[in-house]
Amino acid sequence: MAVSLASRLAPAPADVPVRLRVLSLGAGVQSTTLALMATHGEVGPMPDCAIFADTGWEPRAVYRHLAWLMAPGVLSFPVHVVSSGNIRDDLPAGAQGQRRALIPAFTRTIVPVGDKRPVLDEDPVVGLSRPAGDRVSIGMIRRQCTADYKLVPIRRKLRELVGLAGRRSPKRPVVEQWIGVSLDESLRMKPSAEDWQVNRWPLVERRMTRRDCLLWLARHGYPEPPKSACIGCPFHSDAAWRRLRDGDPDAWADAVAVDRAIRTGFRGIRGEVYLHRSAVPLDEADLTTDADHGQLDLWPNECEGLCGV
Ligand code: SF4
Repeated sequence: MAVSLASRLAPAPADVPVRLRVLSLGAGVQSTTLALMATHGEVGPMPDCAIFADTGWEPRAVYRHLAWLMAPGVLSFPVHVVSSGNIRDDLPAGAQGQRRALIPAFTRTIVPVGDKRPVLDEDPVVGLSRPAGDRVSIGMIRRQCTADYKLVPIRRKLRELVGLAGRRSPKRPVVEQWIGVSLDESLRMKPSAEDWQVNRWPLVERRMTRRDCLLWLARHGYPEPPKSACIGCPFHSDAAWRRLRDGDPDAWADAVAVDRAIRTGFRGIRGEVYLHRSAVPLDEADLTTDADHGQLDLWPNECEGLCGV
């Protein structure tokens, strides 16, 4: 359930009497700004800690930035790193029928003549040989990765930190989680599904956009954080893919290799699977400017606000 615009822009909750105040750290621009603003005393009360959920497939620049954030004297509170597996290794394994890692990848399927099913997209670029007259449908796989690789390990750590054992949970919030969604991405705000946890979005409370975050960091002499997201995240815009290809050739080669390895698809998923939204092999995708294609920003689909911030 999304949060209504009115409640999204409501004033900050007054001191919620919780046992733990925690910042969800993605190590991107927004959550880094939030963590440093808290350290400067510009957002309060001071969080007890931050939690970084490691999918195992962030670019090296993100891990370097995280190491800096965790260095003594940078933040006023500790950072816990949690994980529930390595998405990079789970993807090829999923394509071999083992553990499934459902990322929002794109599928290309042939819809035979006479099949009246609606297709999401008809694309003249045919990556598969198909009988003349058949249609090509491009679809998107349901996203499960944020829950599996971020929500679950964060939730486990939160319960450990406040001493919630087993399935029993208090019916009132004992944890306040800060999420680094900025005003320009406020559609990604989503209330907690747990009675014992309440979510808070301090950047939205302050009407701060991603650009405002960059300005705040520059004003305080901090480096610009890298974009935090899995190396092969299918939400990447063409600009993001280009940055990866041109700026981090090893990560690009890895994304191309994983893209190739998942082609056969996952159990229960029809068609061939691709990381790029045009559903062609990543190293053959047309990565000219976003504006050329009027590309939709897919990040609002990651509605928990735990990736890419
Ligand atoms: S960055 Fe993308 S692929 Fe990685 S967990 Fe988030 S939505 Fe999934």
